[in-house]
Amino acid sequence: MMTDLFASRHIGIRKEDLPKMLKTIGVESIDQLIYETIPSEIRLKKPLDLSREMSEHKFLSHVNSLSLKNKVYKTYIGLGYNECITPSVIKRNILENPGWYTAYTPYQAEIAQGRLEALLNFQTMICDLTGMELSNASLLDESTAAAEAMTMLFDVRNREQKKNEVVKFFVSNEVLPQTLSLLQTRSKPLGIELVTGDHEAFEFGEGFYGALLQYPGKYGQVYDYKSFVQKARDKEIKVAVAADILSLVLLTPPGEIGVDVVVGTTQRFGIPLGYGGPHAAFFATKEAFKRNIPGRIIGLTRDTDGNQALRMALQTREQHIKRDKATSNICTAQVLLAVMAGAYAVYHGPQGLRYIADKVHHNAKILSQLLEKQGFEQLNTAFFDTIKVRVPDGKSLKSKAEKNGINFNYIDNNTVSISINEATSQDDIKLIYTCFSELTGSKDIYSIDVKTKDVIPHSLIRNTLFLDNEIFNSYHSETELMRYLKKLERKDLALNQSMISLGSCTMKLNAASQMLPLSMPAWGNIHPFVPVEQAEGYHTILEELERDLTEITGFAGTSLQPNSGAQGEYAGLMTIRAYHESRGEAYRNICIIPASAHGTNPASAVMAGMKVVVTKTDERGNIDMLDLQEKVEIHSENLAALMITYPSTHGVFESSIKKITQLIHDNGGQVYMDGANMNAQVGLTNPATIGADVCHLNLHKTFAIPHGGGGPGVGPICVAEQLVPFLPGNPVIKTGGKKAITAISGAPWGSSLVCLISYGYIKMLGEAGLTESTKIAILNANYIKNRLSGKFDVLYTGEKGRAAHEMIIDCRPFKQNGIEVTDIAKRLMDYGFHAPTVSFPVAGTLMIEPTESENLDELDRFCDAMLSIRKEIDHSSSEDTNNILKNAPHTLHMVTNDSWDFPYSRQEAAFPLPFVNENKFWPSVRRVDDAYGDRNLICTCAPIEAYAEA
Ligand SMILES: *Cc1c(COP(=O)(O)O)cnc(C)c1O
Repeated sequence: MMTDLFASRHIGIRKEDLPKMLKTIGVESIDQLIYETIPSEIRLKKPLDLSREMSEHKFLSHVNSLSLKNKVYKTYIGLGYNECITPSVIKRNILENPGWYTAYTPYQAEIAQGRLEALLNFQTMICDLTGMELSNASLLDESTAAAEAMTMLFDVRNREQKKNEVVKFFVSNEVLPQTLSLLQTRSKPLGIELVTGDHEAFEFGEGFYGALLQYPGKYGQVYDYKSFVQKARDKEIKVAVAADILSLVLLTPPGEIGVDVVVGTTQRFGIPLGYGGPHAAFFATKEAFKRNIPGRIIGLTRDTDGNQALRMALQTREQHIKRDKATSNICTAQVLLAVMAGAYAVYHGPQGLRYIADKVHHNAKILSQLLEKQGFEQLNTAFFDTIKVRVPDGKSLKSKAEKNGINFNYIDNNTVSISINEATSQDDIKLIYTCFSELTGSKDIYSIDVKTKDVIPHSLIRNTLFLDNEIFNSYHSETELMRYLKKLERKDLALNQSMISLGSCTMKLNAASQMLPLSMPAWGNIHPFVPVEQAEGYHTILEELERDLTEITGFAGTSLQPNSGAQGEYAGLMTIRAYHESRGEAYRNICIIPASAHGTNPASAVMAGMKVVVTKTDERGNIDMLDLQEKVEIHSENLAALMITYPSTHGVFESSIKKITQLIHDNGGQVYMDGANMNAQVGLTNPATIGADVCHLNLHKTFAIPHGGGGPGVGPICVAEQLVPFLPGNPVIKTGGKKAITAISGAPWGSSLVCLISYGYIKMLGEAGLTESTKIAILNANYIKNRLSGKFDVLYTGEKGRAAHEMIIDCRPFKQNGIEVTDIAKRLMDYGFHAPTVSFPVAGTLMIEPTESENLDELDRFCDAMLSIRKEIDHSSSEDTNNILKNAPHTLHMVTNDSWDFPYSRQEAAFPLPFVNENKFWPSVRRVDDAYGDRNLICTCAPIEAYAEA
């Protein structure tokens, strides 16, 4: 084996496995299988033009030397991003730990109690700090969270407001520029009218339903919003506030003055800047809006034995059920980052956070005093961490500051703002001071012996407790936190335990060499709004990644800005919208979507202002051509786009795809390809070849970014020539096309830090390794299909009877025996496996996607488990529900209990096959009761009194 060839580490199958696998499938060679799987008219004619593979060793030194091209300055730009200190215990035990970062979204609650608890901590922290009743966990960034607030408040307008078309939304001038840009993007298609202005002078006229404020304001001024909120409430206008999370330790939380929504980022709670992301945003609101809140909420419930258990509450699968009526398109969010931010609060506790906030505040006050002593005017009358200073000549300050390795925020040539952060030391303050004294030639000697005065008015000082739950007051030493994190981690099944064969989610290897760069300081510590020449290392990898993705998809341009697949869908549709508009065809607003599409598709189309027309699929799982033709004819005049997943969500390469895309083009529409299934295409075919115009890629599926328990994700869009001019921009740093649409996410290049992972994935595999990965992914899927054949029916196959990289097995026939698909999913846990995708895209089925990274033994163990379960199904009957499937999963507590009243043995329950003995995974709770939790919604940790009572 070539030990330095990364492909041989990434791909699980060995050469000597092939004869057995090919025989099982019934083909002579892999090439024959691929020939029978992918229609020949869409196969690529020549290999992708990508650089040759790099060994892991070489990649690490390459990426390290690139990082040194970034200039890591002391950055005081603020604007929603602040340097902070990631406690090493959190970095090592969460960020660098596959037990946390390779987990999936916690749909299977019984084997996800650890991250569910970590997210409940996050929600509790947010509720406490904001003073709100309910929080989600979590959203993509502060700007998108603010946009979600704008749209949620739009949706909950009262009947009168809806009837009278009350559509105006006030945005304070103090709101961050990137947030304003996002509000512009999101408001337009929905018919929301933005009105910006000075919140102090503003009087609400007719037609307003909501408002957004920033707390503190964008350049640091702390305002008292009580009277504004009162005025709004008098007119039944709802108020959202974008708040700085650390400031809320010292300031009156917005929840205490009666606002309806509080959003913000938790970046400064221990998350690296990463040139823009990923970071977790929060969204907190009133209990009254619990059914409208976007994203995921973790809630308490009970298990079969009545013990406390956690799971995702309410609208867990909301887009799949509500589709174009969904409240948002948020699917992948920022779970890993939310887990880290929550752990930061657990580690520091209320006293630690107060210490940090006090230190930041104190340093800001000292700096203000020092500069005033030198004769500079400091303009913020009340502030937390940011001062605003008048300077004679901003340009000259900038050059002095940059010489000293410092970035300020230059508002104009006479004003600069400086945001102090957790990492700012006395020496840093001194250096800032020096930059200013050089400016005036002042001889004043630096001394920290200045008297500071209070700069937060009494009325705005927080006087309520926060984080008084036990959880935030228990783990303040490293040993304690390390063990607490381990305790949580052990409850969760991640890829470091066994295969997670989630169809459509592509849970492949997230290689250590791809992950290591995330911990390098010269990648972590770059603010997204530094001058671009300070981020040369980043721009090298971002541009190279864009180039490679453009090549892989066959298109003309790429934007890395969208920070999830669903955001990519939205971004792609918005470029289509802009394209039609540019041609004077703004009226084109019909988006045709097959019934089998992922729920985010219709949700995104509605957000882009389009009307969804559903087209049918035939009995083979293909688009029903006659139905499509009919729909296209009816809507020909107004056709904007077709959204199509390829290979389809049914796991099939439709051979009529080129006819379909041609039909859309002939009728003036554009074709959007959902790229979630790109793992079946890379190197063999591509979206441009099938005739699409734009696609998103889920870098957290095909391109190896770990799922992180539900995020981060990156959802770049790749577009054909005619859409390149419309790629999204950013109001602070220039990016995007010549006629760029406004922002899709807050940072110019989205979640830049984790783009390093996909960059590494492509560079280390190279053209040959990428293509081989696709082939093996298809091989593995077909191997499973054939091993299960006769026992489980595969619902759809291609014309030659092959699956693509995934397949759907039908579990509906087992209803005869009283067995539902969930019973199979839960029973798989007893065998040590995470269930495949349940009931998507067809109810009552499982969708299995093994990926290329699994080895043959693991595929066999999974198949053995499935076949063994099949036998158990045969022994079950609908008359008697006390059976091994209905009682699954079985916990350690059940199996070691002195009493055992089940009609099967303990061994059958917990050790059903020999391989289980070697590596037993115990679900930590019995089956959770979803309905109970939704009826009794509790989404924060129990208050301290609850412990006292117990
Ligand atoms: C995962 C997925 C999406 C959504 O992507 P997110 O990153 O979770 O927002 C869209 N379509 C399909 C088919 C998917 O599998």
